[in-house]
Amino acid sequence: MTFPFWIAGKPVTAGATAVVHHPFDGSSAGSHFVPSAADVEAAVQAAADVAAEFATLPAHVRAGALDHVSRSLGERSEEIAALITAESGKPLKWARGEVGRAVSTFRWAAEEARRFSGELQRLDTDAGGTGRLALVRRVPRGPVLGITPFNFPLNLVAHKVAPAIAAGAPIVLKPAPATPLTALLLGEILAATDLPAGSWSILPVDNETSSQLVEDPRLPVVSFTGSVPVGWAIRDRVPRKHVALELGGNAAVLVCPDWPDLDFAAQRIATFAMYQAGQSCISVQRVYVHDSVYDALTEKVLSQVRALGVGDPRADGVDVGPLINLDAASRVAAWVSEAVSSGATLLTGGGQSGATVEPTVLADVPEDASVMAEEVFGPVVSLVRVSSVAEGVERINASRFGLQAGVFTRDLPTAFEVSAALQVGGVIVGDVPSFRADQMPYGGVKDSGVGREGPAAAMADFTEERVTVLTGL
Ligand code: NAD
Repeated sequence: MTFPFWIAGKPVTAGATAVVHHPFDGSSAGSHFVPSAADVEAAVQAAADVAAEFATLPAHVRAGALDHVSRSLGERSEEIAALITAESGKPLKWARGEVGRAVSTFRWAAEEARRFSGELQRLDTDAGGTGRLALVRRVPRGPVLGITPFNFPLNLVAHKVAPAIAAGAPIVLKPAPATPLTALLLGEILAATDLPAGSWSILPVDNETSSQLVEDPRLPVVSFTGSVPVGWAIRDRVPRKHVALELGGNAAVLVCPDWPDLDFAAQRIATFAMYQAGQSCISVQRVYVHDSVYDALTEKVLSQVRALGVGDPRADGVDVGPLINLDAASRVAAWVSEAVSSGATLLTGGGQSGATVEPTVLADVPEDASVMAEEVFGPVVSLVRVSSVAEGVERINASRFGLQAGVFTRDLPTAFEVSAALQVGGVIVGDVPSFRADQMPYGGVKDSGVGREGPAAAMADFTEERVTVLTGL
């Protein structure tokens, strides 16, 4: 099937086409029509033209449309999950989970659209403001350019599209070149709503065109999820735009000596180090374990990792599929070799077959090896022995990234102290860093980005305060 792209809510089935390949075996996952320069221009102009009308569209219409999208995603979840697996190579069970999360993201955005309002502020706290009251509303900054990565072809698209609609901001979405089909299918569902023409477009264009869109003054907000260098380069290029960056990381977990259930910790660490073949921005990459439980935990992690099913992501029982392409797999395998030749111990894994990398566990890894210092984005985890909780915190913070971290402790003071000390956007107590509920504020510090997602946080980001001062009250 050749998917249309979408300009101002209308499908376009003309012009050149491109094939999207299944990462596991290179078979066709489907194809899509490719927008021309004139198509891109039409989409951007339509967004600019509808901005004022869309900003005043009643909340019940925006919320109703979002609820419709949420329900339709749920009704078509098997079909959509199969498409996510076909284009991204993620195992079907994780693709189903992603659809479920997108159902929730749209539903939450509908809820937020209903309650998104503003505040009244008294101004008579100083004599000069006596008799005055400020009505503070949030109004859209203007059309949003949403740029998304390959690893969550639906839910990260949902995190751009849903809050934009909820806030009344038109959106031009630019999905990842490796995984545009799910976003284009979402277009079918959006087209069945009564949102105004022009309020959304989905353009599967190349990076050069994406780069031009970044610079287009008609799109004053750029909401980017992707890699660290691309994200910060975008922000540097358009300093006067409002740019939100959800970037990469090398997420860490700290296992404290009091944690009573090492089986649970090992199972969560193994699962979420290898989940989506490590291609999640909050995959477990670095595990700092207190000396008193290090040996026992290591054994348990290894047995969990060795039990994972590796192979064709379409097959039942497969936990770990391929990386997005051969280059990515070769880079990850090379980083494992680099770590081993600089002194690391390979506890399991390390092999590569096509785009698939065996789930790999390393120990004794030098801090400056790429698998520790950079974002692996592959099924590789490094275990590190620490002699105190304070040492673990210090070593977690030594990273230039700061997305989320996990802390296995049952001790409340430790949980609060560690949460306060870790330089990250979120700390997950009693679990791995890979947990994300779609309504919570989510994002990073340091190189991992700026701004927060989650429907409410993104709506705040896509809007700005407009103050009306009422006099004589
Ligand atoms: P990427 O940076 O290569 O691409 C992301 C998007 O940017 C794609 O749509 C791509 O086409 C576009 N793009 C690339 N160059 C561009 C340019 N010069 N101008 C404009 N657009 C451009 O990232 P990827 O490989 O698709 O995704 C993996 C990265 O995304 C990882 O670093 C991962 O950690 C990160 N990520 C972050 C989060 C988060 O929420 N923090 C979530 C998922 C993924």
